[in-house]
Amino acid sequence: MSMPALRQPKINAEEKKTAKYYCEPQNFLIVNLNDGKKLVVSSDAYHGILTSGVLYRCVFCEFEMIRDVMCKERHKNSQNHRTILESYPHMADFKENLIRKLNGPNYYCTICNLVIAAQALNKHLTAEDHLKELSKATTRVAAYKPIN
Ligand SMILES: [Zn+2]
Ligand SMILES: [Zn+2]
Repeated sequence: MSMPALRQPKINAEEKKTAKYYCEPQNFLIVNLNDGKKLVVSSDAYHGILTSGVLYRCVFCEFEMIRDVMCKERHKNSQNHRTILESYPHMADFKENLIRKLNGPNYYCTICNLVIAAQALNKHLTAEDHLKELSKATTRVAAYKPIN
């Protein structure tokens, strides 16, 4: 029995062009919550990678590296980082807000890719910026296609 020839899928060139400040891939990943909700956040935000000047900084490993995409991807894929990341789970109490408790008094908001001081956390969760990012993370789900 012969296999039917696979048809090449048509690639839609009508992708919305958004101004990209940096020429680096903005990879996204999906987060499945216990209550069945799904969110799509940027891979850097999920992994706690902040950009500061000429450096990337991993908030969980407290590790700084030169601002090089390869370097950053290598760090995100490293066993060391993955083990450390697992020790900072998203807190169940905050549900879709995707808050991780850091060492010391601070929290990390995965939705906004931001470190937040404990006393500012409640205010942050109801702030317009956070709600806007949260709504973006929810609407991205419809368009999300995993790359594999
Ligand atoms: Zn790390
Ligand atoms: Zn936030």
